[in-house]
Amino acid sequence: MKKIYLDNAATTPLRVEVRDKMAACDLEAFGNASAVYADGRAARKALEQARRIVAECLKVRAEEVYFTSGGSESDNWALKGIAFQHFKERGHLIVSSIEHPAIRNTCHFLAEIGFSVTELPVDALGRVRPDDVRQAIRSDTRLISVMTANNEVGTVEPIEEIGRIAREQGVPFHTDAVQAGGVLPLEDWSGVIDLLSLSAHKFHGPKGIGVLMIRNGTRIKPWLHGGEQEQGLRASTENVVGAVGLAEALRLSIADRDQAVSKVKALRDRLIDQVLHNIPDVKLNGSRDDRLPGNAHFSFLGVRSSELIPRLDLEGLEASAGSACTAGTYEPSYVLQAMQVPPEWQEGRLRLTLSDRNTEDEVNQAAEILSHTIHALRKS
Ligand SMILES: *Cc1c(COP(=O)(O)O)cnc(C)c1O
Repeated sequence: MKKIYLDNAATTPLRVEVRDKMAACDLEAFGNASAVYADGRAARKALEQARRIVAECLKVRAEEVYFTSGGSESDNWALKGIAFQHFKERGHLIVSSIEHPAIRNTCHFLAEIGFSVTELPVDALGRVRPDDVRQAIRSDTRLISVMTANNEVGTVEPIEEIGRIAREQGVPFHTDAVQAGGVLPLEDWSGVIDLLSLSAHKFHGPKGIGVLMIRNGTRIKPWLHGGEQEQGLRASTENVVGAVGLAEALRLSIADRDQAVSKVKALRDRLIDQVLHNIPDVKLNGSRDDRLPGNAHFSFLGVRSSELIPRLDLEGLEASAGSACTAGTYEPSYVLQAMQVPPEWQEGRLRLTLSDRNTEDEVNQAAEILSHTIHALRKS
């Protein structure tokens, strides 16, 4: 059976060009980038080239790009690194109520050790209101962190506006841009962003490598103590192959972004239209317009995700509910709760996320599989 992979928000397959580039780098630049002999210098050169490429993609300076082990680490560093700058007197953080667990649980930890955290509400479509951000700012606010786009329902947040408010008020602004990397024009907004997280495996790069962009002048604590890597802020021998893969994946995504985005949007709209048209008692969650190009997130009345998703898997359709699943049971979605989706519309949720690898045929088949599976589940 041919599988249809519609879980690109969870991870994406590695691009062949990226794999080849990484393989070449692995052979030519295996050295420790801190070593002074030729093999070390080759690794250093490859690493700094990767950093420059990322910087160009984001329209920031090379020295503002720090490589990490992924999105979760970047998020942890941004929040704890800023908070720990104020460890003695503590203070206040502002986040949205629909952040990824890497932000959300970091905030829970910071609250445990004495920081206060404001979780901003979102509207029914999952959008943060910039005015709420403005009103939440206090004299002891250390950081504002609002994700660029939500990983469950795909809502794109008004990052530029929020960034401008933060700048105006002199509060550092972080955005978890992991879902937006290679897809949204982050380079147009980076002027008002002080810290930004990316993860390569969400844009057809390798797993285990990410970026935290830290604007020059941002006061932040070192993250890993040890050697002097990453300007002395994050110790550990650099993952040169990973960094090269991340840079190549980002560069290629941006090079054909316009084309890829319009293709994915067309596929997504086709999928949404078919599902809404063919299946009764279904709702699209999130915004129709302020939405990631590849995201479709539905609720089906009278169906449970924990039953739906394994059934779809049997038919070769790989998708998720969009939030944590432990031992086959699905925790309620705090994202849908924050959007005040009624409980009966929360049970049967399904996230289908596309990339430009997907085809129209796959979309048609997926809609068909979904339609008969939902029908069968409702009858049983
Ligand atoms: C996937 C994801 C992360 C975590 O990234 P990892 O590289 O898997 O640690 C963080 N934030 C968002 C919005 C994500 O989608």
